[in-house]
Amino acid sequence: STAPVSVLGLGMMGTALATALVRAGHPVTVWNRTPARTGPLVAQGATPAGTPADAVTASPLVVLCLLDNANVHEVLDTLGDTVSGRTLVNLTNGTPAQARELAARAAERGARYIDGGIMAVPQMIAGPHAYVLYSGDEEAYRAHRATLAAFGGTTWAGTDPGLAALHDLGLLTGMYGMVIGVLQAFALVRTENIRAADFAEPLVTWIGAMLAGAPEWARAIDSGEHLTDVSSIAVNQAAFPNFLAAYRDQGISGELFAPFQKLLDRAMAEGHAEDGLSRLAELLRDE
Ligand code: NDP
Repeated sequence: STAPVSVLGLGMMGTALATALVRAGHPVTVWNRTPARTGPLVAQGATPAGTPADAVTASPLVVLCLLDNANVHEVLDTLGDTVSGRTLVNLTNGTPAQARELAARAAERGARYIDGGIMAVPQMIAGPHAYVLYSGDEEAYRAHRATLAAFGGTTWAGTDPGLAALHDLGLLTGMYGMVIGVLQAFALVRTENIRAADFAEPLVTWIGAMLAGAPEWARAIDSGEHLTDVSSIAVNQAAFPNFLAAYRDQGISGELFAPFQKLLDRAMAEGHAEDGLSRLAELLRDE
């Protein structure tokens, strides 16, 4: 397909998205707040637009990738009626509530709105492991899916525009949890001059082995049956003060982990000693 596409926002991610569209053969119009950043795209054949409204007017499909959704609102406010009849695909990171708000705003202007969550870093765009989650106007999504496939896989999350952001934040929540654990582990072993590089291999192996239990926790969470013969909340609650004490003794901060102790304590106080850690997901829900 050679349908024209406009890309608003040429940061690291927007540049990768626009480049993928150019390489897929689409006429691409680009706009960026700082005009100099359009240079590399224009060198590849994209057309620069002087204003967001000019960019929107150039294509029926408009991709937005700005720093945050406050920026998207700002840009949308300058567009007037130019968006009427067009499809906006907002790939800016945001919350479900923000996506729903933007969908309503777009509808008021006669535009179709698709929200998206990019599951890739810029270097992965158009590669085999990149995919984007989409939600919102399903008809518009079907109409433009082949074009959006230039970025990588396309995964439909549902007609509620907030669902792509929900899935995106869910996946990234798992990632940040892992990042927190890995960084704390490196900080801990470094206190005894163990090289992080030497600890990386056992750490990756261990986390992988533990993560294999996630489908089991998922079954427990979906069924509400948390009884375990693997590792009870009582055992974890008894062991966890050792972690906090070791961080203190070794001179590293326990700030990322102290809240977990509080949650374990609450689980015990509420009578869940025999349950597995999966129970904690339910405790988080009635916080
Ligand atoms: P960058 O910081 O590289 O780019 C930010 C972009 O937003 C620039 O084009 C910038 O314009 C623009 N911008 C910022 N403020 C405004 C404003 N007030 N009005 C208009 N434009 C504005 O970020 P990325 O490209 O890395 O990220 C863009 C989005 O993609 C974010 O929401 C991010 O969370 C998401 N994302 C990024 C990933 C990554 O790995 N990089 C992965 C997945 C999602 P200017 O050049 O003028 O500053």
